[in-house]
Amino acid sequence: MIANLIGSEWRTPSNGVSSLPIYNPATGDVIGQVPLSGAKEVDAAVKAASDAYRTWSRTAVMERVRLMFRYKNVLEDHFEQLAAIITRHHGKTLDEARGEVRRGIEVVDFACGAPTLLQGRTLRDVSAGVDQDYYRYPVGVCAGVPPFNFPVMIPLWMFPLAIVAGNTYVLKPSERTPLGGARLAELFLEAGFPEGVLNVVHGARDAVEALLVHPDVRAISFVGSEPVARRVYQTAAANGKRVQALGGAKNHIVVMPDADPDVAVAAILNSAFGNAGERCLAGSVAVVVGGAAEHVLPALTAAAAGMVVGPGDEPGVQIGPLIRAEHRDKVAGYVDKGVSEGAKLLVDGRDQVRRPGFFLGPTILDRVSSDMTIGHEEIFGPVLSVSRASTLDAAIEQANRMALGNMATIFTQSGRAGREFRERVEAGMTGINVPIAQPFAFFPFSGWKGSFYGDLHVHGTDGIEFFTRKKVVVTRW
Ligand code: NAD
Repeated sequence: MIANLIGSEWRTPSNGVSSLPIYNPATGDVIGQVPLSGAKEVDAAVKAASDAYRTWSRTAVMERVRLMFRYKNVLEDHFEQLAAIITRHHGKTLDEARGEVRRGIEVVDFACGAPTLLQGRTLRDVSAGVDQDYYRYPVGVCAGVPPFNFPVMIPLWMFPLAIVAGNTYVLKPSERTPLGGARLAELFLEAGFPEGVLNVVHGARDAVEALLVHPDVRAISFVGSEPVARRVYQTAAANGKRVQALGGAKNHIVVMPDADPDVAVAAILNSAFGNAGERCLAGSVAVVVGGAAEHVLPALTAAAAGMVVGPGDEPGVQIGPLIRAEHRDKVAGYVDKGVSEGAKLLVDGRDQVRRPGFFLGPTILDRVSSDMTIGHEEIFGPVLSVSRASTLDAAIEQANRMALGNMATIFTQSGRAGREFRERVEAGMTGINVPIAQPFAFFPFSGWKGSFYGDLHVHGTDGIEFFTRKKVVVTRW
């Protein structure tokens, strides 16, 4: 069974704590056990973080940054190892895992800019002989609850920025992919950070509930499905904590008749089927406008049908397995439901359900409308719905009908259409001629509507704002 990190000690929870298997989704093999920690383990981790906070919050910024630079180097040294860990227990291809590690390390790069990012502001002579300054202070013990689909990148969205700002941290990795967070914590200690600055508690709902009500946890970062994000936001806020809670997605890709078909087809394949569709920035519905259907659908269908499904560590594989057999069956159930609600199946990934392992092939359903279940619910698998729209207005209206507003992207050669889309589409991350509108570490990860509960998003200067509180000092001598 993998262990929690409390202070500098790796502790396997004892008596009465149950566990769950960790799988290799490509083989179905059990490769470990993760403990389902509860309030007792959470309390020990929060106590270790509170103890460390006294010293860490007063440690010089340049010392905190020196350690963060060292962490960056240690992560670079273990780049391939981290990617292999992701593939082994998440299933995505090695190339996708490498992309994940890179995007995660970029947040550490950003955190190394703390001497600039943590500066306050000053206005002298605000009135006669009076100066005002504000200083940034850490908020205290912060906690992070990531989802299963980016076991390295999403923890790195959370604790490096919090810690470089002088906070201490409790990370509760996903119980389905806990090995990424566990390895990140080992490397964190290797970089030389003092004990208790980062703690790890493995578990699921009970551990999260304990964090949400713990009086010494000051801020919670959550990333996961919409219903849990909403609940985490409400409970943490009711308990007086800062919260940033990122929820699910139902992302639309609009393809205009003037789009370059080669660009659009490659992008849709990447957006819909990359990471086996288990991405909050996955394109879920392609809305083809007017003549775009004839330009892109035949090539899209042929290319999807030819994609290679298999274990993520095999060369040439383009789509790895889904996270669990139950999730694969749930996604396949959405395909059944789409067909029964009248969608036309163009590519059927159910033909590629293979055992052992939790595989499902790429699937495309055409003539999907937003009132069909697959037209508005998040599927989180390699399933692309295609809708037909006669105008850009109709396409934007369809995207805006979604309760979730994470990402939307348009393919067009018209600057006017691109601008119109940018102005009117209700998605916090909007792309023009790109498959995945992912903000880099120095911009906020910016979902709207049910895709985000809170006001300060993760990373970018929003992250700095979230992990600091300001003190204003008014001075007259
Ligand atoms: P999930 O909501 O099931 O779990 C997320 C985290 O919450 C896990 O750590 C889990 O242990 C915990 N959790 C689960 N149920 C809980 C409960 N009832 N009470 C308290 N905690 C609970 O999500 P998942 O299946 O791991 O991840 C997939 C979801 O995450 C998708 O909906 C996806 O869109 C979303 N996601 C969103 C973003 C984003 O940036 N908006 C990024 C990645 C994933």
